[in-house]
Amino acid sequence: MGADSPRTLQRLDALRIADNRLPVELNSRGEAIMESEARHDFLHQCRAIVGASHALTNAYDTAPYLKDWSGRYQGQALAVIRPGSTEQVAELVRLCRAHRVAIVPQGGNTGLAGGATPHGAAPCVVIQLGRMNKLRKVDAVNNTITVEAGALLADVQAAAHAAGRLFPLSLAAEGTCTVGGNLATNAGGTAVLRYGNMRNLCLGLEVVTADGRIWDGLRGLRKDNTGYSLRDVYVGSEGTLGIITAAVLALFPEHGCKVTCLAAVPGITEATTLLQAAQQRLGSNLTAAELMSSAALAAVAQEMPQVRLPLAQPRAWMLLMELSASSFQDEGRQQIEALMAQAIERGLATDVAVAASLQQAQDFWAVREAVPEAQARQGFAIRYDISLPISELRRFVDESDAQVASLWPDMYTVTFGHIGDGNLHYNVRSTSSSSQNELVQRREKVDRIVYDLVQSVGGSISAEHGIGQAKCHELRAHKSAVEMDLMRSIKMALDPDGLMNPGKVLSLG
Ligand SMILES: Cc1cc2nc3c(=O)[nH]c(=O)nc-3n(C[C@H](O)[C@H](O)[C@H](O)COP(=O)(O)OP(=O)(O)OC[C@H]3O[C@@H](n4cnc5c(N)ncnc54)[C@H](O)[C@@H]3O)c2cc1C
Repeated sequence: MGADSPRTLQRLDALRIADNRLPVELNSRGEAIMESEARHDFLHQCRAIVGASHALTNAYDTAPYLKDWSGRYQGQALAVIRPGSTEQVAELVRLCRAHRVAIVPQGGNTGLAGGATPHGAAPCVVIQLGRMNKLRKVDAVNNTITVEAGALLADVQAAAHAAGRLFPLSLAAEGTCTVGGNLATNAGGTAVLRYGNMRNLCLGLEVVTADGRIWDGLRGLRKDNTGYSLRDVYVGSEGTLGIITAAVLALFPEHGCKVTCLAAVPGITEATTLLQAAQQRLGSNLTAAELMSSAALAAVAQEMPQVRLPLAQPRAWMLLMELSASSFQDEGRQQIEALMAQAIERGLATDVAVAASLQQAQDFWAVREAVPEAQARQGFAIRYDISLPISELRRFVDESDAQVASLWPDMYTVTFGHIGDGNLHYNVRSTSSSSQNELVQRREKVDRIVYDLVQSVGGSISAEHGIGQAKCHELRAHKSAVEMDLMRSIKMALDPDGLMNPGKVLSLG
């Protein structure tokens, strides 16, 4: 468990002092306000930079940007500003710095850790990058695409496809989330097994630093050993160090051949054994491996009856796997079919299906993609996004399920996720009509069960959703004093005034 060293505390004080330099005056509800003259002057200058129609201040216009996707977090801001160029972002950052106004960068607002929602009392603006959505350049020879931060992930995938290439990052929010948000959260998704997460797909960055300068690091190089990797500092920093305005992303050959299969498996041990067998046989052509528990499938059946469950095995878990290659459709299919036949023989699977058409493959994926939506429709749950060594998945789930059930017999868990890279989404829910308040009260104890087990098996408290404002406290509890100290040193060096997305990742509280 982490503890703060004297040096850490010194730095923490420095950041608190930085926060206190903001022109904070409190209203009757204890919320921060700026003096009206200073506010008027500040907003006037914001409008001068981006144009009046792109500086939103009335409650109706700003509301969608001040609440997160899950509805759990709500914040306030002086304005939501929508710049149209990197230069405008830099001017805005300099203006905010001069007025000591904090900045919350925002892309598609699909983040699941409250990172894009204003937090706390400091006066702030949301800088929403949606207008900066140009696809600047495709270099088919270098296999790269240069895009602005506000480009939608789905548009980047489509542009790559139009050039006969693949941009492999894929996640259910791809029609709404942006490249800037993907980079800032180091997004994962369903193709991490083969291509890695967003960090692995990013070759270069353009960033507006916290003091309003533009760092042009838009290099499309696979090798560049010229000192510290600034790109890696900004990727995954969740808007707390600077604003990403553009990126060079790596492209890959498109897949001419895809074979998708589903296996009903008795449990996690069988799923991981089958995964290993698939990796042995298919190597890096195995591009996805997704697991869904029977409770996750039951939620889909109940909440989204239009989604057809291809295998009728009510108590089984479901393992979805996909093989992708540039050619060899028949060979790929034969390999998968042989693998599935062996799985049945060895008792690893009780039923299997190999998609016979693109439509069937899409139907298989529709089941997996329906799980988060079905979960959302079932109402409140205590949700976890955790990363575990694949060898420890079963131990974690068995022990955590047992501990939760022994404390609260009405509670059960819904497990699904990217088993190929050890990322579980683990939701704890109640069968009874326990009110949301009751569940919220239990959250602290459930957190202890889950996060202590995660720690004991060498896992991570956040696999792909980041820390945001949701997990600041846990981050501090789970990182060593040295690691926290190093992270605060980076924050102090790159954002000494503490204006970039305060209250996220490194909470000052
Ligand atoms: C249905 C659903 C499914 C999802 N599935 C996955 C999944 O499989 N894998 C996964 O990893 N995530 C998943 N997510 C979470 C989310 O889509 C990702 O975190 C995504 O990368 C966020 O992108 P965004 O543009 O919406 O960012 P936002 O939500 O707007 O912001 C997220 C964070 O990034 C910062 N930020 C945004 N833009 C910038 C910028 N230009 N510069 C600096 N900081 C910035 C924000 O301040 C915030 O801290 C899912 C979300 C939903 C709703």
